[in-house]
Amino acid sequence: MDHTVAVKLLGVRGTVPVHGADFARFGGATSCVLVRAGGEGLILDAGTGLQGRAFRDFFPGSAFTMLITHSHVDHLMGFPIFSPFFDPAVRCGVYLKTREGRTGREQLEALMAPPLWPIRTDCLKAAVDIYDVPAAFSVGPVEVETMEACHPGGCTIYKIICGGISVVYATDYEPESDSPDDFCAFAQGCTLLLLDAQYTRSEYERNRGFGHSTIPRSAAIARRCGAEQTLLIHHDPTRTDRQLLELEAAVHAQYPNVRFGRGGEEVLL
Ligand SMILES: [Zn+2]
Ligand SMILES: [Zn+2]
Repeated sequence: MDHTVAVKLLGVRGTVPVHGADFARFGGATSCVLVRAGGEGLILDAGTGLQGRAFRDFFPGSAFTMLITHSHVDHLMGFPIFSPFFDPAVRCGVYLKTREGRTGREQLEALMAPPLWPIRTDCLKAAVDIYDVPAAFSVGPVEVETMEACHPGGCTIYKIICGGISVVYATDYEPESDSPDDFCAFAQGCTLLLLDAQYTRSEYERNRGFGHSTIPRSAAIARRCGAEQTLLIHHDPTRTDRQLLELEAAVHAQYPNVRFGRGGEEVLL
């Protein structure tokens, strides 16, 4: 079995998609990350970064799995138009936790129904099975562990483990300190950490309780976790490439294993 784990970032922008020359380098698409591991294709979140063609280039198989953190629209806007869902040969397991008394299926049906959207989930041609999110489960040879993030309405943090390699995807997470014991234990020693860092410290003072971390806090957490490499994600939609490069250089000087994620980049582990 091929133990290589490949990770491709298709969307690293937080909250709302942006476009234009100022955002070309880091990309303006919202949350979506692909993981290929142990012959399985996994999709983390279905923001505007989710594109059927990019996914097909990355994973040509007909069965795959989608792990959704929560149903805020910046994490779901790509779901209704994901082209493999209109291919009858495709089978896809979708994991989305029951929240506010609504199952994952009910959350997706609320998004895909008139007047918000013209096509309902039962019009999808693929076999799409929707599951609640257990604490731990497996997808073929891939082990998945989860923990709940501090975020308005809740959000699932996923750890994907295959052949001794682990990838932690922690977006939309507002840690209570620079060293949250529960998260640092969960992510301890991971190979790749993808971690929310929407705000600067001063922005955070105005946005406390919105459910996001800061660049310095997330860098400190990455070090405490002993993550081999960390990509900070969920960039604020107002942040230009120039600003991101400056902030990245400052944090990278202090934390050599920490960089900012860029839309379109691929990491082999
Ligand atoms: Zn978000
Ligand atoms: Zn959110």
